[in-house]
Amino acid sequence: MTATGDDRPDDAVVKAVAQNLRDVGSRVERAAAEAGRSADAVGLVAVSKVQPADRVAAALAAGHRLFGENRVQEAKTRWSSLRERVPDLRLHLIGPLQTNKAREAVALFDMIETVDRPKLARALAEEFARSGRRLECLLQVNTGEEAQKHGVAPAELEGLYRIAVEECGVPVSGLMCIQPIDEAPAPHFALLAELAAGLDLPVLSMGMSADFEAAIHQGATLVRVGTAIFGERPRPPAAIG
Ligand SMILES: *Cc1c(COP(=O)(O)O)cnc(C)c1O
Repeated sequence: MTATGDDRPDDAVVKAVAQNLRDVGSRVERAAAEAGRSADAVGLVAVSKVQPADRVAAALAAGHRLFGENRVQEAKTRWSSLRERVPDLRLHLIGPLQTNKAREAVALFDMIETVDRPKLARALAEEFARSGRRLECLLQVNTGEEAQKHGVAPAELEGLYRIAVEECGVPVSGLMCIQPIDEAPAPHFALLAELAAGLDLPVLSMGMSADFEAAIHQGATLVRVGTAIFGERPRPPAAIG
């Protein structure tokens, strides 16, 4: 941490995060090569939720530009001013979105990965029309059909897709899932890939620190990696939804 109290990271933090980014980058490359895919086809979303500001500043200093946050308010606090300093920054919302936060979310983020119900698709469509800012969106699928998790059930995905895309005109480019923590991830990634292929959607956001290679093997085009880049989160995040 810095003596001046600003976000400028000290050398050790800059080095550690830069090294982690290189390591994760090599792992992404290796996994892509194993799958016969180009590593350029896999976007690395650095999940900065609840991470100290100096670690995030270190990632920016290392040239990383794509970040994910799971709460609108926290993301606003962290990124509103950074946005102006880092014009090529790209921010993805990867946590649940309440319709009453749609306006703030559309103003701040570049992609909403977590559209999971018709009411939210409608609220986003309204906000896109009002603001003139149309964000690329993903539909979040609850592949494990877990009661506590957000996301549309696989059987209801097509219905949500019809409402979001055909009825509301939301630009949906793909699917996202948060696989169950206590199961092998690959079948969930395979299911998400199959569902996306069925709807002819090119973007697949799946895989985290523990399993992003498996996700890349199954066709992930976005992997969301937090701890492997920034280290352990200092306090537990709100439940991953
Ligand atoms: C926190 C979070 C991640 C990153 O998890 P790590 O295990 O730290 O890589 C990925 N996706 C979502 C939706 C998250 O909330």
